Amino acid sequence: MVGILTEMTGATDVQLLFSTQEEHGWVARTGAGDAVPVREAGRHRLLPLSVFRYAQRTHEPVVVADAVRDDRFRRDPYFAGVDRCSVLAVPLVIRGEQRAMLLLENRMIRGAFSSDRLEGIMLIAGQLAVSLDNARVYAELERKVAERTRQLAAANARLEQLSVTDPLTGLANRRRLEEVLAAEWERAAEQGGQLALAMVDIDHYKRYNDHFGHAAGDQCLQRVAACLADNVDDGQLVARYGGEEFAVVLPGMGLDAAEELAECLCGAIARLAEPHPCTRLGIVTVSIGVAALTPAAAGGSPSALIELADGALYRAKRDGRARVRTAPAGPAR
Ligand code: GH3
Ligand code: MG
Ligand code: MG
Repeated sequence: MVGILTEMTGATDVQLLFSTQEEHGWVARTGAGDAVPVREAGRHRLLPLSVFRYAQRTHEPVVVADAVRDDRFRRDPYFAGVDRCSVLAVPLVIRGEQRAMLLLENRMIRGAFSSDRLEGIMLIAGQLAVSLDNARVYAELERKVAERTRQLAAANARLEQLSVTDPLTGLANRRRLEEVLAAEWERAAEQGGQLALAMVDIDHYKRYNDHFGHAAGDQCLQRVAACLADNVDDGQLVARYGGEEFAVVLPGMGLDAAEELAECLCGAIARLAEPHPCTRLGIVTVSIGVAALTPAAAGGSPSALIELADGALYRAKRDGRARVRTAPAGPAR
C-alpha cells in the first residue's frame, strides 16, 4: 500500500503509524521495520509529530499545502531547515476507533496533495483500514486458538497424570506400574541387563484398621507410601499395587543389591515408629519379597517377576513378618 501510494501521489515519503493496545500506544516503523513509539520517532525527527497530533485530535484528514509556512506546524523540529513540504495526514478509523494513520509528504512541491488526488488516497486508505481490521481480527483469533490449545494440552497432561496416580498416596498406580514394568522388562531384554522387583506388604493392617479406624488407617498408609518413595533413587519406581501393598521396580539391579535396598526400606518404615499395638513389635512394619531376573535369559513376561516376588513375600510373612525374603535366582518357574 505504501508503494502504491508513493507511486500514485508522487509523495517523497509515506509512513503508516499504528495504534497498539499495549503500553507503547502509537508506534511508527523505522526503515529496519522496528516499532518505535511516535513520541520517540518525533524526537528523532522521523515524523512531524505536530501534524500527527493535529489529525489525531480532529479525527479528520489534514491537508497541508506547505508545512514550513503553516503557523500550526512550522515550529515542528521535523521541518527545521526544510525549504518546502506538502503534508497529508489521514487517520484510519476502524470500528469507531483511530487505529492507524497515513502520513504522506512531498518535499519537492507545495500543494502536492490537491483535493482531486485526495479522493483516490481516501479510497486506498479505506481499503487499508479494512485490511488492517481483518489482520487484527485474524491475529486475535490466532491468539485465542493458541491459548485454547495451550489450556487443552495442560488439561490433557493433568488428566494423563491423574490416570496414572493413586489418589490416596500420590504414588504411581497399578496401571503406571504395569506400564513401567513392561517398558523396563523390554529394555532389560534388549540390553541383556537385570531387573528386580520388591513387593512390600504392611503387616497385620486389618488389625490396625480395626484398632484405629479406617481414616487413621488411610493416613498411616500415606506415611508409609511417602517413606518408601523417599528411600528410593530416581529411576526406581514405587507404586501402590493395591490395598496395603506396594511394588518397587528396580531397573538394572541384581538380587543382592535389591535385597539390600529392601532391608533399608524395612528399616526406614520401622524407624517411622508408627504405633501398632496389635503386633509383636508394637509398631507398623512391612514384609518384603524380592526377586530379580535377566529377561533376555528368562524370556516370558514381567508377570513371572511379580510371581517370584509374591512367593518371596509369602515366605517373609510365614517366617514371622517384618523381614525381607528373596526368590532364588534363576529362570522363571
Ligand atoms: P498381613 O500381615 O498377613 O498382610 O495381614 P493384613 O491384615 O495386613 O492382611 P489382609 O490382606 O488380611 O488385610 C489387608 C488390610 O489392609 C485390609 C484393610 O483393612 C487394609 N487396607 C487395604 N487397603 C486399605 C486402604 O486403602 N485404607 C485403609 N485404611 N486400609 C486398607
Ligand atoms: Mg498386609
Ligand atoms: Mg496384603
